[in-house]
Amino acid sequence: MAGVKPASRTAPSHAALSPATASAVIAALAPLELRLTRHRRAVLAVLEASDRPLTAEEVVQRSGVPMSTAYRNLAELVDAGVIVRVSGVGGGDRHELAEQFSQHHHHHLVCVDCGIVTDFDASAQLEKLIAREVDTLLASSGFQVTHHVFDVRGRCVSCQAGA
Ligand SMILES: [Zn+2]
Ligand SMILES: [Zn+2]
Repeated sequence: MAGVKPASRTAPSHAALSPATASAVIAALAPLELRLTRHRRAVLAVLEASDRPLTAEEVVQRSGVPMSTAYRNLAELVDAGVIVRVSGVGGGDRHELAEQFSQHHHHHLVCVDCGIVTDFDASAQLEKLIAREVDTLLASSGFQVTHHVFDVRGRCVSCQAGA
């Protein structure tokens, strides 16, 4: 959507992409003949610094990367498997570093009203339970599990307050 609000131009954060993530991303992009450009680096840095998945608009605001470039970079990095799209509600997709690059396995809370997506860590107990149950359930199917995605939907605190 064209939420072209020239207002609320928060100053771009200058959080740098961590060296470990940068080298992993460079290695992943090389076979695709994509380089870790200044803009791609800035897009990845804001996702790495965020504690929740971000909309494309938020990435533009926080990175200072021009909108068309940021959108193109997001799409390229999704195709390359470096960024994952997290589907929110009403088409408001959000983006985060793929877990193999963030090294952070986690789950999402999705607000069905405003669409905000928040990260949460499941307990070790729940992770073990999910893995065990899935293994048991799929034992006879021959399906090889690589990872799981488990999102919880509901209403965030500010939507409950009816703001
Ligand atoms: Zn909400
Ligand atoms: Zn999990």
